[in-house]
Amino acid sequence: MAQKRTKNDYIPHSNGNHATHCHWQGCREPGEYKAPKSKDSLHEYEWYCLEHIREYNRKWDFFAGMNSEQIEEFRHEAVTGHRPTWSRESRMRDNYSKLQDAIYEFITMSPARHSKPVPNLPPKIRKALALLDLEYPFAVTELKSQYRGMVKKFHPDVNKGDKQAEETFKRITVAYKILADHVKNL
Ligand SMILES: [Zn+2]
Repeated sequence: MAQKRTKNDYIPHSNGNHATHCHWQGCREPGEYKAPKSKDSLHEYEWYCLEHIREYNRKWDFFAGMNSEQIEEFRHEAVTGHRPTWSRESRMRDNYSKLQDAIYEFITMSPARHSKPVPNLPPKIRKALALLDLEYPFAVTELKSQYRGMVKKFHPDVNKGDKQAEETFKRITVAYKILADHVKNL
C-alpha cells in the first residue's frame, strides 16, 4: 500500500547527533531527512538532503492510490517495457510513458536497488549490456535508444571501408537482439 507523503516530511528529522551524508548517489550534502528504505521496509530509514528527499518523495507519490498488486505490475512493466492491460481502463494511460520512465528511474535510483544483489546474469547478457553500455535492469526504451545511437555512429554507410566500425556494428546488432530476446522472455 503506497503512502501519501505530506509537507511534514520536509521538516528535518535529524536530532543533531545524527551525522550522516545524503544517501543519494554522488551527493555530499548532510542527510537530515529520513525516508523509508523501500515500500517493503517502511520502518527502516535512509537519510537524504532536502533536494533529494523531495526527489525521492515525488517518485514515491506516483504509487499513491495504487494497490500493491498494481505497483508490482508497474515495477515489472517499467523494466520490461510492456504495457499492462489495466492501464487501458485507467486515466493513467495518457501519462503512461512518463510514468513508466519515472518508475524506472525510481527503481534504478532507489537505494533499495543497492541492497539487492544483481541477478545472476548469463555471460552473453552481461557482454551484450557492456557493449551497449547499459546497466541491469534496463528499460526497453533505453535499449532501443542506445542501439539507435550506436547504429548512427557505426553503420557501414557512414564509415565507408572502416573494417573496425563494421565489426562493431555487427556486434552491437547481435547484442541488441540478445537483450531484446531476453526482455521478451521475462
Ligand atoms: Zn542529497
